Amino acid sequence: MRRLSPGTRLALATHNPGKVRELAAMLRPHGVAVLSAGTLGLGEPVEDAPDFVGNARLKALAAAKASGLPALADDSGFSVAALGGAPGVLSARWAGPGKDFAAAMERVRREMAGSADRRAWFTCALSLAWPDGATATFLGRAEGTVAWPPRGDRGFGYDPMFVSLGNTETYGEMDPARKHATSHRARAMAQMLLSCFEPGDPVVP
Ligand code: IMP
Repeated sequence: MRRLSPGTRLALATHNPGKVRELAAMLRPHGVAVLSAGTLGLGEPVEDAPDFVGNARLKALAAAKASGLPALADDSGFSVAALGGAPGVLSARWAGPGKDFAAAMERVRREMAGSADRRAWFTCALSLAWPDGATATFLGRAEGTVAWPPRGDRGFGYDPMFVSLGNTETYGEMDPARKHATSHRARAMAQMLLSCFEPGDPVVP
């Protein structure tokens, strides 16, 4: 396994401001210098893999090759049991080119059509790639239920319609620090940190 260390310059292979904010906050205590896709002028590859892991890997590899730096990509999505796991890998596409998540959430509600099964989950695949083509991918999942109507203006995407297990607030209402403690992205990141940092590496509280 390749290692990261405090001072590593890491390209973030995402143009999604919500993901950039969350990933940068999680990496900050480890002294990793995060460079955004916008700063590096990175393009957006076509996400044509059938699953989160495949899409995360292809985004990370494209960014590592283009930037010459190790790169981190996130592919994630919202899944609803009553919809057979949809929108899943199509979560961003359900919002359309205008990134209209109010419309995407309304579509989820409409397609659930009053189903009694309200189980839902977020999945996150985090992929690290190096310019020589090496990759490592980590998965995290957060379970919960669908809330309707959507509540809260924090977070991004489908956050206002998701209540994670053991909570009453939606992710859209929750203090970001609480979301970061247990979310799908936080769980994938915990796996990555365990694998990629040496136990003695300094952590800034
Ligand atoms: P992609 O990984 O770029 O294909 O986009 C994933 C999409 O899933 C995002 O645009 C959001 O709509 C949704 N998503 C992923 N993670 C979260 C989250 O933490 N909260 C809310 N929506 C999310």
